Amino acid sequence: MSEYSFDKSVDMFTRATKVIPSGISGNKNPAFAVPGTFPYFAERGEGCKYWDVDGNEYIDYLLGYGPIVLGYNYKKIDEAADKQKKMGSAFNHPTERSVELAEKMVEIVPWADWAVFGRNGSDVTTYSIQIAREYTQKRKIIMAKGAYHGSHSWCTPGHGGLIDEDYRQVLSFTWNDATELEDLVKANEGDVAAIILTPYHHPAFADQVMPAPGFWADVRRICDENDIVLIADDVRAGFRLDIGGSGEYLGYKPDIACYCKAIANGYCMSSAVGRDKLKNAASKVFFTGTYYTSAIEIAAALATIEELQATNAIEHMMKMGTMLQEGLKAKAESHGLQVNITGPPTIPYMSFSNESNFRRSQLFSGEVAKRGAILHPHHNWFLSYSHKEADILKTLDIADECFGIVKKEFGS
Ligand code: PMP
Repeated sequence: MSEYSFDKSVDMFTRATKVIPSGISGNKNPAFAVPGTFPYFAERGEGCKYWDVDGNEYIDYLLGYGPIVLGYNYKKIDEAADKQKKMGSAFNHPTERSVELAEKMVEIVPWADWAVFGRNGSDVTTYSIQIAREYTQKRKIIMAKGAYHGSHSWCTPGHGGLIDEDYRQVLSFTWNDATELEDLVKANEGDVAAIILTPYHHPAFADQVMPAPGFWADVRRICDENDIVLIADDVRAGFRLDIGGSGEYLGYKPDIACYCKAIANGYCMSSAVGRDKLKNAASKVFFTGTYYTSAIEIAAALATIEELQATNAIEHMMKMGTMLQEGLKAKAESHGLQVNITGPPTIPYMSFSNESNFRRSQLFSGEVAKRGAILHPHHNWFLSYSHKEADILKTLDIADECFGIVKKEFGS
């Protein structure tokens, strides 16, 4: 094992805390991972790997928390962005790229009739609930307990700067419990504008949960019977389960779907797509931002979607992800350790079955990082098209060694 140190990361963090509140904000703060045994600052990336500021190399399964779906520094996407850059990006008006991308989104998502573009996931989840409120003229929003829909005040899991009113119209129910959902709708009869759900449940600090058989069908029925807009928050899973949206993979059709992360392979882009019946309401909501129409990122999104289609990247990621999931389970068992492997193969997560305090996960992830791979202890992982068999095999070798360390420290 080559010596991994995080000295520069730690020094840079100290520097950052002097001029940036908390040094690194949100879930990229070291406290969210394993302080001291995880990198804090990145330098460059290539394919499925990146290097941190200390020069340590990693096979990456976090991929910027999802956006890098093809690979870091992916030539075709950067070329498309560069081509647009030469012509200009932030104009007084949108460019033809906006129309082309909207046409592309409507083409790939079978039930969608229109598309809009923002920059971050929260832009479009918030926009979607506004459309639902405008369309239904109702107030309440229902989400699953523990789900993440962004950093805006109606849905942030954070604490600072919030007032009770921010959450007042937002209700929640237990994922997969359609009866609880229906009861909640009944208790708020005539006042529920939208149900917003991720395709499957992927909370942080917990195992992932796939939809129970019939759950999505029940949700759809409840929405139809009560004039509620069904919003699929595909910000995290979009473009990793099915090119037509995660609903195609899991068997549901929402009224609006939100995308971000993987849509432009790391260029900051998000999109909401929706049904015709909501188009008028969508046009009434004032949806704008200085950079919403900037063309470089839109060109990158177009190129990313075309490349995902041309390469069958999702199929490849499924194969690699399955290899990783099955390999990890087998390696853990060979050490007498029980692990939970949850989520779809392209967005896997692993926890240790007999603990609730993440100490095994943190030791495991820290040791894995020191050997050259990023398997986050508290957040789901991601596969990219650039992960090849050799990367998975190397990761499994690293994991094997690190399971041994966990076994030695904790016994089982
Ligand atoms: N919804 C989901 C499911 C997400 O995973 C995220 C980001 N992690 C968001 C919404 C918010 O996206 P953003 O951070 O780009 O605003």
